[in-house]
Amino acid sequence: MKAVVYQGPHDVAVTDVPDAKIERPTDVLVRVTTTNICGSDLHMYEGRTSFEKGRTFGHENMGEVVEIGKGVEKVKVGDRVVLPFNISCGFCKNCERGLTNYCLTTQPDPSAAELLRVPFGDHNALRLGEDAQDKENDYVMLSDIFPTGYHATEMAGVIPGDSVVIAGAGPVGLMAALSATIKGAAKVMVVDRHPDRLALAEQIGAIAIDDSKVDPVQAVLDETMGLGADRGCEPTILRATKIPATLNMLINSVRFTGGIGTVGVFVPQDPGAKGELAKQGKVAIDFGTHWFKGQTMGNGQAPVKRYNRRLRDLIAADKAKPSWIVSHEISLDQAADAYRNFDARSEGWTKTEVLS
Ligand code: NAD
Ligand code: ZN
Repeated sequence: MKAVVYQGPHDVAVTDVPDAKIERPTDVLVRVTTTNICGSDLHMYEGRTSFEKGRTFGHENMGEVVEIGKGVEKVKVGDRVVLPFNISCGFCKNCERGLTNYCLTTQPDPSAAELLRVPFGDHNALRLGEDAQDKENDYVMLSDIFPTGYHATEMAGVIPGDSVVIAGAGPVGLMAALSATIKGAAKVMVVDRHPDRLALAEQIGAIAIDDSKVDPVQAVLDETMGLGADRGCEPTILRATKIPATLNMLINSVRFTGGIGTVGVFVPQDPGAKGELAKQGKVAIDFGTHWFKGQTMGNGQAPVKRYNRRLRDLIAADKAKPSWIVSHEISLDQAADAYRNFDARSEGWTKTEVLS
């Protein structure tokens, strides 16, 4: 089968790899119909991690079930399904508590390929209704970024009437903006410096703040009668090389006792690390202000399974349309160019769907 394979920093290629196949009775085999390029791929793409050459990329998938293991009871051949990026077992100590993002037993197979083996298929494969193909662009967002944006708002504690500031209008930030809107936030403010991405935020009624032109903390205070936002979401990237400007911006623009949800991945092994703290993989957050204001903060990967069913049902009921951020639909053969463009944040390039 064809797959997107890592060749080294800033280089992926579509090559032939052995077909994925059923290995255990609880596996299902999925023919991937759509996969997305994600900001998380860029940590490997840009060479910031120990990802080995020759490994397959990709983790945001939906498709059609083509084969099931002997122990699979719920999922059937022919079902259209969407798969969480964090595959889990469903029965370890963490999964039992809904923390499938911290499953103790199971790791996903990579997946920007034609076929995907899904362990514990009954648990992981979320079945879709008859509108699966018509809304493929929406449902594929359930594999990662819609639940991840939603998780940022959950950790921040967004409730109806809140004002919410989101640091970054990338795909995940835009999903956080959509989630805050769905939850009934009165005011959603999105900070970035890419006009095309800020325009997407405005399309769903958010206030765009261009931090290359204005001081974002002041802009949030101006929008909230000087109090600060009730909640803040951090979906950028926390690099050990840099002072975490976005996180400190949130600490300073969220009100006393407000909440912050951090889903932007922290990258400790940064080849460009300079300075003592950075070399130790640490960042200088403004903890004093955070503490003094009595803010809460939640961090980490999103437990996709906790949210994807309810978000699926919102899409099915036409109450959420995450596909508004899709800028490019491409075939698997065009993946190398698409990674280059997404990595460069080329103008107009937001979320790329790779169709097979
Ligand atoms: P992206 O890189 O396309 O988007 C990030 C956006 O943040 C960009 O538009 C960039 O301009 C903006 N930004 C960065 N620094 C900024 C600053 N100082 N001020 C204003 N804007 C700034 O990536 P994405 O696909 O949206 O993903 C975002 C992050 O979420 C990545 O780190 C990704 O790994 C992470 N992620 C986490 C989870 C999880 O489970 N926690 C899941 C998916 C993605
Ligand atoms: Zn992703």
